Amino acid sequence: SFTVAIVGRPNVGKSTLFNRLAGRRLALVDDQPGLTRDRREAETEIGTCEVTLVDTAGLEPGDTGLTARMREQTEAAIAQADLVLFLIDARAGVIASDEIFAELVRSSGKPVVLAANKCEGRAAEAGLYEAFALGLGEPLPISAEHGLGIGDVSVAIEDACLAKGEGQESGQGAEADAEADEGPHALRIAIVGRPNVGKSTLVNALLGEERMITGPEAGITRDAIASEIDWDGRPLRVFDTAGLRKKARVEGKAEELSVGDTLKAIRFAEVVVLLLDAETPFEKQDLQIAALIAQEGRALVIAVNKWDLVREREKRLNELREACERLLPQVRGVALVTVSAKSGKGIDKLMKAVLAADEVWNRRMPTHALNQWLAAALEAHPPPARSGRRIKLRYMTQANARPPTFVVFCSLPKALPDSYSRYLVNGLRESFDLPGVPIRLNLRKGK
Ligand code: GDP
Repeated sequence: SFTVAIVGRPNVGKSTLFNRLAGRRLALVDDQPGLTRDRREAETEIGTCEVTLVDTAGLEPGDTGLTARMREQTEAAIAQADLVLFLIDARAGVIASDEIFAELVRSSGKPVVLAANKCEGRAAEAGLYEAFALGLGEPLPISAEHGLGIGDVSVAIEDACLAKGEGQESGQGAEADAEADEGPHALRIAIVGRPNVGKSTLVNALLGEERMITGPEAGITRDAIASEIDWDGRPLRVFDTAGLRKKARVEGKAEELSVGDTLKAIRFAEVVVLLLDAETPFEKQDLQIAALIAQEGRALVIAVNKWDLVREREKRLNELREACERLLPQVRGVALVTVSAKSGKGIDKLMKAVLAADEVWNRRMPTHALNQWLAAALEAHPPPARSGRRIKLRYMTQANARPPTFVVFCSLPKALPDSYSRYLVNGLRESFDLPGVPIRLNLRKGK
């Protein structure tokens, strides 16, 4: 069944939440830290899903802080989990040991639902805001003790459970596979583009001769969706839409762009390479695929193929760069690399750009730097007024990476014009050097 591990530092209310979700009152719960409990599990139904709940506790009596045993237990529970339910105490705010546990969760790469407990009173408000800064997504305000917000937690668990059922062969499954064999995380890359831009040729160049699709037969026999390769010591998993397509060709179907395959590849990938044909770049379909990549929040690199056929290269390159900035404002600053998949020229440069895009996609900005920046941005260009009152933006934090996702607390979020959000996004991109990735900015109501 689907395993959910409830994780967090001691005394945030894990057992109370466990009991709520399991639907019974089993555990000895007390507001004192340091009660000895073993790790407990319960089978329960949440919505339509069969769920195994795991409560991580295991604190030695008298221990404060994070003991080695607690850490081990938590790590083991996370490793076993399909979803981590990360709990903080909103009344206490985010403290150092929350950060340590959050780091365990982040580095596991497991899907996570963040809940801020003890939200029954006003004392919890500040802690709820701080919770955004853990970089584990948006916190759900709950009170395990008073049974508030438990429905939202259940829905989030059910969503994750259903998503796993559906998406096993793409994102989630691949992530789990990569996690299973311990080694360094293999960067997932997809190469997408219109038919005939040279995707197969580029994939073959990357994968090396021995795995080459030389004819339709090879295309049929190789049905692995992703191939693992080693690029200068960095493991990569390359999603191969070309392999899928070759099958269709053999069956005599017309050659066309399959949006389904493209979307599958995009969702699989961390970094997507959009391959263009140097002779016909930025066609409508190219732009549609780019928009899809941004919408799915993936890191993007643009590769212009068949560069060997191009004359007046410098002039052409400038035109391409200009077109790129104009046509793809949502990924401003995106890397544009020229390659010849056929000869292998430029592929090194392309892979460097891929790794750089991944780095930007994963980056986390400190909250204090963001708020300093916000203050300056507000001063340089104050937000407009609405019915005589200026719209106020008060606090900002990065709620997530992959892609960079920011939350800004605003007095009147619905009234803030889109142009102002764009001003902030463009400024963030410039000031924090975030080229080529989609940036998400969520406005939340805050006093
Ligand atoms: P796909 O449909 O995107 O997988 O495209 P293919 O890899 O099948 O390539 C389509 C055609 O473009 C083939 O005839 C390739 O030989 C050719 N091609 C691919 N890359 C290059 C390149 O870098 N330079 C040139 N001149 N031709 C290329």
